[in-house]
Amino acid sequence: MAAVPTLSYSSARTYQECPLRWKFLYVDHLAEAPRGYFTFGRTIHAALEELVRPMVVPVVRRAGGKESQRTLDHYASGRPAAGGTATSTEEEVLEIYRRAWSSEGYTSREEEERYRALGAEILLGYYRLLAERPPTPVAVEEHLEATWNGIPVHGYIDRIDRTTNGGLEVLDYKTSRELSHDEALRSDQLSLYQVLVEKNYPDPVEGLTLYHLRSLTSLRSPPRAKDSLDALYNRLGEVSDGIRSEAFDPSPGRQCRRCEFQSRCPEFRLVPAPDQKYLADLVDRFARLRSQEAKIAGELERTAAELHRAAERAGVHRVPGSRAVAIRRREEEWRYPLEEVEGLPRGSSGEPLFRLDRPEEVRRFIRNPEIDPELRRKIADSGRRQVRWYWELEDPDAVD
Ligand code: SF4
Repeated sequence: MAAVPTLSYSSARTYQECPLRWKFLYVDHLAEAPRGYFTFGRTIHAALEELVRPMVVPVVRRAGGKESQRTLDHYASGRPAAGGTATSTEEEVLEIYRRAWSSEGYTSREEEERYRALGAEILLGYYRLLAERPPTPVAVEEHLEATWNGIPVHGYIDRIDRTTNGGLEVLDYKTSRELSHDEALRSDQLSLYQVLVEKNYPDPVEGLTLYHLRSLTSLRSPPRAKDSLDALYNRLGEVSDGIRSEAFDPSPGRQCRRCEFQSRCPEFRLVPAPDQKYLADLVDRFARLRSQEAKIAGELERTAAELHRAAERAGVHRVPGSRAVAIRRREEEWRYPLEEVEGLPRGSSGEPLFRLDRPEEVRRFIRNPEIDPELRRKIADSGRRQVRWYWELEDPDAVD
């Protein structure tokens, strides 16, 4: 078995979607081509981190009593009062944005400019909100690790705020076009972040928020209940077990459309030229036999019945052919439908007072002199014999 993998939300989701794709990414470390959409997300996250980090008021974390991983002292921008911001003008915000920008992965100049304008709008709107309603962050872009009942997990948390009750609020930024409140309620990502924060901080998590950046809207949900966390733990356990046992089968589905590893995937890989004819012939033969399978089964039954009638007319049980000898065998079975027998001793709700499940038990009952002879006769009379004939083939040349 492989070592227990440290799971993040996205790596677990990748494995759940397709174990083979997970292997390509996390074991073989194959790179995917950059995509503008993801570059945009990273750029916005980096700019937001720079905007909010000066506001962070660090708190003590559980492990070893350390402060939150990065404190204001780590930043050259200085230490403004809590609840304030080190960035004082919109021009400074745009300067942060310019520094964070990367052109990687955009398919055209137009696409890049469209995203650039969208990002500026998001950041300026976010900055104005920060000034109007300053949050009380205790951490931004925080990397947290924990072992959850034996499963190592980790994640980068966009922002953790102090609530007015003294608890913690976990926020995850989303640059997606649409986002619903239902997604915040069901988000496995937020559930995992709750676990990470609870294991790293002494204060309780009081809220989980997906923050929709395009509309600057918080979609808040209460912390997850135990049964919901248990369900997530079980799903992560299945992922962890699968990875440890190196179960990396492809799982084709909608995710294949955006998978860049189709040329390496057995579900999509083309048959190598030298094997094409051989494999194509095998497929054709298999398909032909499959289509004949049902027809042959019916034909076999009809031939056996015809052979049976002809052998019965001739009064024989062994019928030689040119390649084998057919031997007629007989199998019989007795059935006693006790439910139809009158006068059987029964309980108050009509159930038989004795159980006779198998024909041998019934026959023993019938032979028992201690039982009323009239009742035994009725049961014996109810018996029906079922005879089944079948054929065996014997090789005439076989030597014992
Ligand atoms: S192409 Fe589909 S099945 Fe193959 S690795 Fe990619 S996601 Fe998995």
